[in-house]
Amino acid sequence: NRIPLMAGNWKMNLDHLEANHLVQGLALALGDAGHDYAKCEVVVIPPFTDIRTVQTIVDADELGIKYGAQDVSVHDNGAYTGEISTAMLTKLGVSYVVMGHSERREYHGESDALVGAKARKVLDAGMTPILCCGEALEVRKAGTHVEFVLAQVRAALEGWSGQDVAKIVIAYEPIWAIGTGETATAEDAQEVCGAIREALRADYGDATAEAVRVLYGGSAKPDNIKELMAQPDVDGALIGGASLKAESFAAMAGFY
Ligand code: 13P
Repeated sequence: NRIPLMAGNWKMNLDHLEANHLVQGLALALGDAGHDYAKCEVVVIPPFTDIRTVQTIVDADELGIKYGAQDVSVHDNGAYTGEISTAMLTKLGVSYVVMGHSERREYHGESDALVGAKARKVLDAGMTPILCCGEALEVRKAGTHVEFVLAQVRAALEGWSGQDVAKIVIAYEPIWAIGTGETATAEDAQEVCGAIREALRADYGDATAEAVRVLYGGSAKPDNIKELMAQPDVDGALIGGASLKAESFAAMAGFY
């Protein structure tokens, strides 16, 4: 009873005019395919500067598409130059916020503690956190990827109640598979997504473990989405490159 979720992380691509074009194209492609939003939620996650534009199109055309943000501040307001608050995002109708993406961990030094604080802030503001985790190639080669990922998730969620954890989305994105064309096999994705769910079960019990949606990310595309989605613990995908084209993203949302 977890509704599958296809989320398109645009990263630092597309200005607001291009965003307008892509969202309209996506809505058309989904409409042509007779997309059933009850069978798969569709979320676009554009740069901050595009969000107002996306909101306008979604509202005007009453689209079933939802939208998210790629990051957020842990502060409410004040002297934090360059930051964006949760209140600014909720005002724009944002439903989801990504935190802990490997690109932010690597280039902006985000720690598990900061990632956890962002998730907390987002949940308290009534939006859904998409908490990212994933190992680098060296960790995978050493065979310690499962422990590594579980430690990331547990560190970010330290002190949380099972009731709160049940509301989040977790995205497993092995770094070696991001933007490389190197997709983890469906078995690789299942191994870690399943281990995440079992860790949640051990820490919080069945209700929480069964409620949390666990996504796979890393070179997910129309060619491999069916196999990924056939895995019992893969509830959707966080899609980079393939979400920048209306046709490929719509095709993935129609995996069912
Ligand atoms: P790609 O789908 O381009 O590999 O990106 C995955 C990703 O990082 C989504 O957040």
